[in-house]
Amino acid sequence: MDSLEEQRAGLDRGDVSARELVQRALSRAEGVGAELNAVVGVRGEAALAEADASDARRGQGTVLSPLDGTPVLLKDNIVMQGEPTTCASRILEGFRSPYDATVVERLRDAGAIIIGRTNMDEFAMGSSTENSIFGPARNPWDPSRSCGGSSGGSASAVAAGVTGYALGSDTGGSVRQPGSFCGVVGMKPTYGRISRYGLVAFASSLDQIGPFTRTARECAWVLEALSGHDPRDSTSLPEPAWRGSPDLDGSLSGIRIGVPREYFVGEGLSAEVSERVRASLGELEAAGAYLVEVDLPHTEHVVSTYYLIATAEASSNLARYDGARYGRRAVGVEDVDEMYRRSRSEGFGPEVKRRILLGTYVLSAGYFEAYYKKAQQVRTLVRRDFDRAFERCDVIAGPTYPQVAFPIGGKVDDPIRLYLGDVYTVSANLAGLPGLSLPCGEASGLPVGLQLMAPALDEGTLLTVASGFQKETDHHLHRPGSFDEPE
Ligand code: GLN
Repeated sequence: MDSLEEQRAGLDRGDVSARELVQRALSRAEGVGAELNAVVGVRGEAALAEADASDARRGQGTVLSPLDGTPVLLKDNIVMQGEPTTCASRILEGFRSPYDATVVERLRDAGAIIIGRTNMDEFAMGSSTENSIFGPARNPWDPSRSCGGSSGGSASAVAAGVTGYALGSDTGGSVRQPGSFCGVVGMKPTYGRISRYGLVAFASSLDQIGPFTRTARECAWVLEALSGHDPRDSTSLPEPAWRGSPDLDGSLSGIRIGVPREYFVGEGLSAEVSERVRASLGELEAAGAYLVEVDLPHTEHVVSTYYLIATAEASSNLARYDGARYGRRAVGVEDVDEMYRRSRSEGFGPEVKRRILLGTYVLSAGYFEAYYKKAQQVRTLVRRDFDRAFERCDVIAGPTYPQVAFPIGGKVDDPIRLYLGDVYTVSANLAGLPGLSLPCGEASGLPVGLQLMAPALDEGTLLTVASGFQKETDHHLHRPGSFDEPE
């Protein structure tokens, strides 16, 4: 009973209780979740008490939502009152949040039970969950390989069946790329769809919280629970919560799928991923969709644009970690300057420092026009590329990442190579569009992700196409063999 759909059905039939589901999730979190280094903290007693409350409610005929009574994990950059939040950084050592993120409140209102926190790249900066004080999280398909990042722990835990779903955050691909590495669905909603209140900021104009699940239908349930305006996030959209899951009939007939020419010509794209993704486009076509070739001419500039804007915003957001306000403070300092300097030098890891330096440089008086301003202009051009492409199609499809999961330790010393891998994912963040990665088969025994993107606020079409694909194919049912649970 691993997937959210199965858990929901089991609860509805009375075959299983929320307490049993939570107990099982906790024991898997401490077993396989710890083995994969995917789960970095659990809340046992509190979660079990919430499970009992859910069971009692259900006993009296009240079910709050499809998530009521189901266990869920949070990426360790989403705050929960009284609990630690580390962002996988030494600088937040000892920090406990005085308040709940909006998504935490909404999960609770839906009856979901948060059982713990997952591993990630420090402050969500990375693509492999190796930049972490906890050490690297591992991929259940092959533990010597990366589970992707930065929300790698959440993806790995869902793929290994610790919980049926988990939350991550996606600034430039951090939900979709680990989803593709671990063979699960990962969605980044439209910018502003889900409140960022209580998500530790990396790059505020790009950050969105998103779910990992096994199926598009489950993803729709989570989006329903989390979405909707929040006055505490000034960039939250005025729209009410998305309520499209009953309309997901999965019909692909007549849907126009745009295939960007630029996504299949780069030298970084591996032949096996290209082949698998092309085969999936064929599967969509066979199910009634039309393929249309489209152009996204600024694709070659999206990685540099993203790394200028993301680092600029990060350098400003991370200024708040000064040793005075949150978490860790250097000891034995002589004066306040030394406190700032030493707290930050000792607290941040190398990738975070690299980005703070780059972002500070980009924003500095002499370079602002040449870099930051130019990047903002290119961002507008990228957005226009998509506006134009969506005149000819309903969704855009292509690879999520140029390769399958790479070995742990294989890339972490070569940041530029890692950055270049983000070529297919960062555009949706730059343009504010919803994007989703779904498993579309394996290459060399490892999952490949098919990415779909839709116009802003059109999660409905995105999830319809994704559920249609899952109706026609069984890629999402493939499991990593070694972590199959004994029934
Ligand atoms: N891999 C990208 C980066 O390193 C994306 C990170 C994210 O989405 N949080 O910035």
